[in-house]
Amino acid sequence: MKNYDVVIVGAGASGIGIASMLKDFGVKKMVVLERYKVGATFEKWPKEMRFITPSFTTNFWGHMDLNSVVSGTSPAYSLDTEHPTGKEYAKYLRLISRHLELPINENADVENVEYSENRFIVHIKGHKIIKSRFLIWAAGEFQYPNSNLFSSSPLLLHTSQIESWEQIQGDQIYIIGGGESGIDAAINLSRLGKKVVLLEGNKDWNSIRTTDPSVNLSPYTIDRLNEEMLNERITFFDKSQVKDIKLEDDKYRIYVRGKKSYQYQSATPPIIATGFKSSLMMVKDFFDWDKTNSYVLLNEHDESIKTPGLFLVGPQVRHENHILCFIYKFRQRFGVVCNAIGNELEMDISCLKQYRKEGLYLDDLGDCGQECPC
Ligand SMILES: Cc1cc2nc3c(=O)[nH]c(=O)nc-3n(C[C@H](O)[C@H](O)[C@H](O)COP(=O)(O)OP(=O)(O)OC[C@H]3O[C@@H](n4cnc5c(N)ncnc54)[C@H](O)[C@@H]3O)c2cc1C
Repeated sequence: MKNYDVVIVGAGASGIGIASMLKDFGVKKMVVLERYKVGATFEKWPKEMRFITPSFTTNFWGHMDLNSVVSGTSPAYSLDTEHPTGKEYAKYLRLISRHLELPINENADVENVEYSENRFIVHIKGHKIIKSRFLIWAAGEFQYPNSNLFSSSPLLLHTSQIESWEQIQGDQIYIIGGGESGIDAAINLSRLGKKVVLLEGNKDWNSIRTTDPSVNLSPYTIDRLNEEMLNERITFFDKSQVKDIKLEDDKYRIYVRGKKSYQYQSATPPIIATGFKSSLMMVKDFFDWDKTNSYVLLNEHDESIKTPGLFLVGPQVRHENHILCFIYKFRQRFGVVCNAIGNELEMDISCLKQYRKEGLYLDDLGDCGQECPC
């Protein structure tokens, strides 16, 4: 059984970002385990989907590109685009891993993790087992959709299963969920000339107003939506919490909370844009969870408060109301994790000073969450 200091699960944006920083610290006994290939999640995005956060070559003036995960790199520069597609962003991640010669094992699907005598025992599909002192969970959310919600779920498509919006048949499409993914689906289907009805349970679109893009729609989406609304093909219904979708008499009947009979019926399978569960389900017992069971409790090093040595990086990192689900947010915690591991391994961590300047090391979230006055 091979013995490592650090095992990272997942070679997406967060796995590549943290591996690059640890390599810079000089950590040698380290491996990144990736079930497919580097950037696999981004490869799976619908062809038309683009980053909502813009990329720009700000590096030249001392600010990192909003979508970069490694110091001195810029997707805007390597990809020549402002809003990369998933495939383009995967190319950026592969460029970094090759350039920095990161130790990545592709086709290494982690099936199970055990913890014994201060070591993590990681089981990889095909009966391979490795051991590590530290485990960094970077397996993301996208490949774990929240899709099994309705009676006819197996017949419905979740947004993460769509390769291109061109594959959707029919003239009128229902979409369940009005977050970024649902609105992106509505925009793309309307662009193809289809009528779209979007049902959203919780949001009262008129009352949401915050500067946090984790809650508010991004400016990129608002611009695209405004443009597409002119074609009058998109209809929104808010406060319409869908409780079930049943296939009856060859029609998908949509039942909304508070109503006895179905409210809508569709000839084509509705698209479900209900977000994601989390890869953390695989290691859920190594964490304590918040009261509502929606996020895991981490200490100031983004380490499980229940299992020392287990760190979380990526969009699932949350500290109370600070939701770090965008790259420009969660990359700032890479330095926090590397600082903790670097100290334990007695590495030279002086390069953290530079990382702090670049926005890759934010150990005090106290200044985050400020609303802009205008
Ligand atoms: C629709 C959508 C649009 C988004 N747009 C933006 C945006 O514009 N800007 C922005 O900043 N963020 C955006 N995000 C968020 C951003 O994409 C995610 O935060 C980012 O992908 C998270 O990176 P990650 O490395 O944690 O996860 P991922 O990119 O999902 O990487 C996880 C990796 O782990 C691998 N993996 C999973 N399970 C295992 C396992 N058991 N064993 C081995 N490997 C495993 C996967 O194959 C994958 O390669 C968007 C997210 C979605 C869903």
